[in-house]
Amino acid sequence: MILESKERSAPFYTARRKLLAERLSGEPFDAFLITEMVNIRYLTGFSGTSATLLAAGDDVWFLTDSRYITQAHDQVMGVNVREYKERLEAVAGLLKERGVKSLGFESRQTSFSTVEDMREKFKGVSLAPTKKIVESQRLIKDEPEIEAMRSLIGMLVKVYPEAINLIRPGAVERDVAVELEYRLKKLGADGAAFDFIVASGERSALPHGVASGKVIDDGDMVILDWGAKGWGYHSDNTRVFGVGKVSAQLKDIYKVVLEANQAAIDSVKPGVALKDVDGAARKVIKDAGYGDYFGHGTGHGVGLFIHEDPKVSWTSESVAKAGMVFTVEPGVYLPGEGGARVEDMVHVTDESCEVLSQSLPKDDL
Ligand code: ZN
Ligand code: ZN
Repeated sequence: MILESKERSAPFYTARRKLLAERLSGEPFDAFLITEMVNIRYLTGFSGTSATLLAAGDDVWFLTDSRYITQAHDQVMGVNVREYKERLEAVAGLLKERGVKSLGFESRQTSFSTVEDMREKFKGVSLAPTKKIVESQRLIKDEPEIEAMRSLIGMLVKVYPEAINLIRPGAVERDVAVELEYRLKKLGADGAAFDFIVASGERSALPHGVASGKVIDDGDMVILDWGAKGWGYHSDNTRVFGVGKVSAQLKDIYKVVLEANQAAIDSVKPGVALKDVDGAARKVIKDAGYGDYFGHGTGHGVGLFIHEDPKVSWTSESVAKAGMVFTVEPGVYLPGEGGARVEDMVHVTDESCEVLSQSLPKDDL
């Protein structure tokens, strides 16, 4: 695992910072302040929960407090690491040293009160709000990221037979979720990527039916939406299980959703608009008469966040590019009856796409 080796991962962090420096050279400010922890991890490998990054030209400063300084020296390579007593004072000092006159900052992750503090402490520096500078870079995954997510899906594949065993009449949804999470942790996951959805019977009509105290019944269709977390990354997958004799209507819904999932996957290749990937899934569902019961978008990017860009929906303005990783997860939810969703993670390749979750079966019910 590249991300487990400081030596092997270092060149990737260097390359990411180089790309960021190129991007920043076209921006109208002298330095860029990064406070989103996920972005800091992406650029340095630091896995702690408190730090600030300042990028100016080819130089990057990593600032943290005494709680994290040892971890920082251990994890972070190729940047200037400094310990601070007070964060904004330390940044102010650096801005002065560097003669910074204008500073870009991550406006989506900076609170209004922090902006007020920055105005007060960064005398003579004009503040430039920015959006998604590092995030736009994170859209395209590199080798260690793909390797990590592949491995996190591999854990689901290993635990899948257990899921089949656990999802049976008499089992409590929450017990299924807890047991699966435990198994994933035993395999080395840091934990669940999110609160697992185990939604059986009528509850399967809830797109976000987090595992409850409901007992799974004979005849239930069960949605399992699960994923593992590790090395900062996530996996995200949904499979549908039929318990005992499932009604013809629910079977039909499942079949339609499966076809929609496949149609969307088949449409993925570099250059295709992601709203058209959504459209491919939506058309199948609409043609089958369930158009009103598919309310959410077809998918989302996955990486350092479980939900990140790009969006795969009818409002998406993104275009598929090689290196992107996103989910394809159409669903149909009939209130009072039940529902189905089938979710795969796809990796856009130079020609088309690779279904990372290919080894998780999508059998007939
Ligand atoms: Zn999911
Ligand atoms: Zn998802």
